[in-house]
Amino acid sequence: MTAAGRGWPGDPADATTPVALDAAGVRTLAAGCDLHELDARVSVCRACPRLVAWREQVATEKRASFATEPYWGRPIPGWGDPQPWLVVLGLAPAAHGGNRTGRVFTGDRSGDWLFAALHRAGLAALPTSVHAGDGQRLDGVRIVAAVRCAPPDNRPTTDERDTCAPWLAAELALLPTARVILCLGGFAWDAALRQLAAAGNAVPRPRPRFGHGATADVGPFTLIASFHPSQQNTFTGRLTEPMLDDVFAAAKDLAAPPVQA
Ligand code: SF4
Repeated sequence: MTAAGRGWPGDPADATTPVALDAAGVRTLAAGCDLHELDARVSVCRACPRLVAWREQVATEKRASFATEPYWGRPIPGWGDPQPWLVVLGLAPAAHGGNRTGRVFTGDRSGDWLFAALHRAGLAALPTSVHAGDGQRLDGVRIVAAVRCAPPDNRPTTDERDTCAPWLAAELALLPTARVILCLGGFAWDAALRQLAAAGNAVPRPRPRFGHGATADVGPFTLIASFHPSQQNTFTGRLTEPMLDDVFAAAKDLAAPPVQA
């Protein structure tokens, strides 16, 4: 794992960044800071013992194909445009993807799909995202994960989900230009609804159900859902490139101001 401020390109934290050690610490540290400081505090969080142990074990043992590479081995902050119209919300980083590269959705097949689609939509400078300093840039988009550490089997526990939630809540509050949240998968859809309800926004009744292309207006946001670009979904054809392209086109339409008659 890479210690804060030890030279990882773009590391938002340094040795003085305060570290959350439990759920109360997350709630305290998620409040009262700007976006850069929030990224820094997220990136050193140690509030979930099981996830801390897992992310660091993976970063030490490594996958054979990445044996010579350094691993980030820390939580993954949001990444992209600090003044986005679109927030792309995923589940959690992959053990050998974001947990290795230090950038959300970077270094695994899901991320390859997502960044290629963002590029086709004119929202990413490059069709690939490989590592910090690769020249990738998002225009009008910020990508975040509902749970910021890689979980074993991609399954955070309910406690871990709830412990991490204040980071997402604080991040959404620091993105006043955001209008649309694209939820990749049912976990992200539920996390967004839960988060926005907790922030005092009225959630439609009956509660909007996840489905590819589903939308819901909640507070200042419109949610739009997509199947997650997981290998399971993309290999089986459950999610195709045109389907993902259509979701980005729909997100743009949702964010566009109404045309005056
Ligand atoms: S999952 Fe979230 S709350 Fe838990 S250690 Fe990682 S960043 Fe902290």
